[in-house]
This record gives sequence, structure tokens and C-alpha cells, in this order.
Amino acid sequence: MVKIDLITGFLGAGKTTFIQRYLQWLKQKDVKVAIIENEFGKAGIDCAILKGQTDNISELSGGCICCGLKVGFHDLLIKLSESGEYERIIVEPSGIFNLDDFFDVTNSENVKKYAQVGTVATIVDPTSLIDVDQAVTDMLYSQLHSTNLILLSKISTSDNNKIKTLTESIDHIFWANSTKRTNKQKIVAQPWENLNDRFFSEFVAYSGHSLPHKRRLYDHTNTYNSSTLHIKNQFSVPQLKEIINAAFNEQYGKVLRIKGYLTSQDNQTLLINCTKNRLCIEIAKESQQSAINIIGKNINRSGLNTLFSNG
Ligand SMILES: [Zn+2]
Repeated sequence: MVKIDLITGFLGAGKTTFIQRYLQWLKQKDVKVAIIENEFGKAGIDCAILKGQTDNISELSGGCICCGLKVGFHDLLIKLSESGEYERIIVEPSGIFNLDDFFDVTNSENVKKYAQVGTVATIVDPTSLIDVDQAVTDMLYSQLHSTNLILLSKISTSDNNKIKTLTESIDHIFWANSTKRTNKQKIVAQPWENLNDRFFSEFVAYSGHSLPHKRRLYDHTNTYNSSTLHIKNQFSVPQLKEIINAAFNEQYGKVLRIKGYLTSQDNQTLLINCTKNRLCIEIAKESQQSAINIIGKNINRSGLNTLFSNG
């Protein structure tokens, strides 16, 4: 039986970074792995990031695998599992994702013939629980209640207060849904550079399944939208920070995520990985075509295009 691992988390949580670490470990152990990457935007950014580590990546982009791409996800899972080529399939859904729909797919008779759920991990960025609306809270609850472990991202050993606050915020999401977090949803609060062989040996041993809970149905296609921009300009990092801060300023719709590649003044590829509360701009490991995905609600594409083009 092929094991299907799911690495979920809200927009910008750090899913791809965690998968990079997990892939390194799986490679050491000689495990044959396929990856399914789901991007809500049209440009395959995470796919490009992971391509440096493995070629076995299938991409579903331009929507979420819980809504419009659910059937495509089901069919792709069957295709990869029945091929017999892989021991594990890692699924990275878009940051807009409802975990209940994942279990709908993995419980289908055709998937169960070849595969079963392995580890379900939910990544939570300390800043991602700030200023979230009801729809996002519901989505986060779906990702937290049936997970095997909750991994806090972007923390260090000296972050005790941050970890305490974050744990309380996570528990609050359970209380708001009249439930309580138990040991079944264990929080792992350790810096990722400390995730060792023992951690991953335990990580691969889970068998995820849906725990009983109140289910709320959303069609994310109606709630969120995305724009992919291909910007030819070159940018300095300070200039880009100013533009990106302006983009999050709600004058262009409610922008939640900006991710992709742009070109620096000295012609290097910049990897853009931003949420409103965390701007990350760094030199990309490989040169890439300029393309950025912008995800949010009521996104004003032409306004954003002008903002980036006239910067
Ligand atoms: Zn969806």
C-alpha cells in the first residue's frame, strides 16, 4: 500500500520548507516518493522550488483540490498509486484548503485499493492566526482537528512566550467549535533545524483519519481569487518591500498572499514569499521566469499590475 502524506497549513505557513526537509530525510532512507503540488494561483511556484530536489512532482494549479480540482486530485492519486512506483505520495495542498475534502477523496473505494493515509501534518506560522475572519478560522479548524501533529514554523528555542500564545490561539479555535484539543493533535514546537532522524522516524509512522466533528461546507472558488502577474521590471529589495506593503494595503482587494519570482536590479531571480505579517524576499537558488501569484478576496488585478509595473 502506498502511503499518502498530507502537509497542510494556511497561506504562507511554511509547508514547502517543511517538505524540503522531509524530502531530504526520505532520500537518505531511499524511499521512493512522488509529490502532488496544488497551487491556488496559476503559476507553479512551489513546484519550481521543489524541482531542485526531485523530479517526481505532479502539479494541479489554478484552484484548490478541495473544490474545483477535487476530481482531478482523486484521479491523479489513483494514477500515481496504481503505478506501483512509489512508497509515499506527499500532498501539498494550496494554503486555501479544507481537510475534510481530503478524507472524502482518500476514502473513495478506488483510492483505497492502492493507497492509505499516512501522516497528516498541519503547519502553523505564529503570525498566521492574527486578524483572521470566520471563513479562515473554519478552514483552520478543519486543518487542525483531524491532524496527527501540529508543527509550529518559524520559531526558535527562546520563543517560549510566542509558543504559549500560539498554543492558546490554537486551543481557542477548538473551543470556538465546542471541542477540545487532545493528545491526538499534538503540537510540536521545536525549531526545524532540530528535526532529526528520530523525529522523522516517528513522523512517518502515523495513519491519519478523520475524527468526528462539525463540518462546514465552503466553495473556495466563490470566496477567493488569484491573479498571476508577469512583470518585466527589475527591482531593488527596498523598492519591492514598499510595493508589496502597498499591495497588502486593502486598496487592491484583500490580498492574503504574494508568492513567486521577480528580477533584481542586477538581474538575479528574487524569490518572493510574503503574507501581510511576514515579508520574505531572497535570492532564488536557480534563475526563473518572472511570475507572481497573488491570492486573496476581490483582488484588483489591473490595479496590482499597475502597482508592480510602475513601482
Ligand atoms: Zn477549496
